[in-house]
Amino acid sequence: MKIKIVNATILDVENSKVLEKYTVCIEDSTITFVGENDNLFSQAFVADRIIDFEDDILCAGFVNAHAHNAMSLFRGLKDDVELQQWLYENMFVIEKYLQPDDVFYGTQLGLLESIKSGITTNLDAYFFPKSIVDANIKLGTRCVCALGATLYEDRYKSLKEEYISLPHNNDLVSYMAYAHSIYTIDTKGLEDTVFIAKEFNLPMHIHVSETLGEIGDCVGKYNKTPVQLLQNIGFFEHKCLIAHSVYIDKDDYDILNQHNVSVAHCPASNMKLGSGIAPIYSMLQANINVCLGTDGAASNNSLDMFREMYLASLLQKVNLHQTDIMSAPFMLQMATLNGAKALNLQDKIGEVKVGYKADLIRISTKDVNMIPINDYYSNVVYSAKPENVKMTMVNGQILYENGKFADFIDVEKIVFECNKAIKRLKNESKI
Ligand SMILES: [Zn+2]
Repeated sequence: MKIKIVNATILDVENSKVLEKYTVCIEDSTITFVGENDNLFSQAFVADRIIDFEDDILCAGFVNAHAHNAMSLFRGLKDDVELQQWLYENMFVIEKYLQPDDVFYGTQLGLLESIKSGITTNLDAYFFPKSIVDANIKLGTRCVCALGATLYEDRYKSLKEEYISLPHNNDLVSYMAYAHSIYTIDTKGLEDTVFIAKEFNLPMHIHVSETLGEIGDCVGKYNKTPVQLLQNIGFFEHKCLIAHSVYIDKDDYDILNQHNVSVAHCPASNMKLGSGIAPIYSMLQANINVCLGTDGAASNNSLDMFREMYLASLLQKVNLHQTDIMSAPFMLQMATLNGAKALNLQDKIGEVKVGYKADLIRISTKDVNMIPINDYYSNVVYSAKPENVKMTMVNGQILYENGKFADFIDVEKIVFECNKAIKRLKNESKI
């Protein structure tokens, strides 16, 4: 399939530039041309479909660097409690009753919301990875599936079998080795996760330093911060992405910097669970790559990267009483390019560039909340909402356009199965 997009206003996040009246040519999954409308190459490009963007915004799809998509099943199930109570008395209780099909349909529910809000890639860390991978392949979304949510008895053997059994030749799917946290997995389990990462050359993922309680327990038990503990275990010898990092200090920054560790900041989840404000401005000043994540819809309760960009920027401004930081162009970079870097996909996605995968979104410039356009970046970060997304394309395939999902996406079936699943799960778990 050859697609030509004309009259696009491209937001070039790498250079914080706005490129008006641009054409983008796409052949199958790849961007083959980016240039001004009146270019000879684009004029000669014979497309199966020409899409006139009518000056709407075109930018790289959002990269959600920390998600648990199937937790969309638990949206609104338990609000207004702090993390430990939310986890141990609610989520962990109901999750014991999850079946592979619950995750298959729950993930698709999360993906529907993601697609509508312009998220084209998710790092998804949850149970039943085969269900996560199948859901992403079915809907055509890009996924980094983080393996290791289950608390296996023999973690090394189980993770290895799990990894080998999963699809390895799909352009949309890659993997990470994952451990939930230092408080749910013992040192041996964390070491086993490192062994698997080493054996299969996988990047790593884990929740780190999310609450003060986690720090206190870790220092009490090991006389180390969680970051120091993970360094000792060898977690950072591989490319690693850590989620949250609400409570980390300057010594931790040095460790993260030294090992090129990225941080997935999840402002909405941190605020709603009362965890605190991650010092991401200081981390960025210390040259740490910080990207954005929604976390699961059970603690957010949306999967909306516009809201994460907005909150992440405003939280730092109010916390530091400083307004000239976390600018709109930088926030969009965090939601795209920085996420791609954190997921090791920076040569493939995160920018509108020749040779890159066509993971692209169209954002309206005509909806009332987007008028007037005094500054494109400002409107996208501070004003836009998911309903302003007019098109979402992943790997050159249009998944959503003008309020409608592609024909092959059976929204009704997904909704029906999710409602059935949560009813059963609540009955069985008594939550
Ligand atoms: Zn999480």
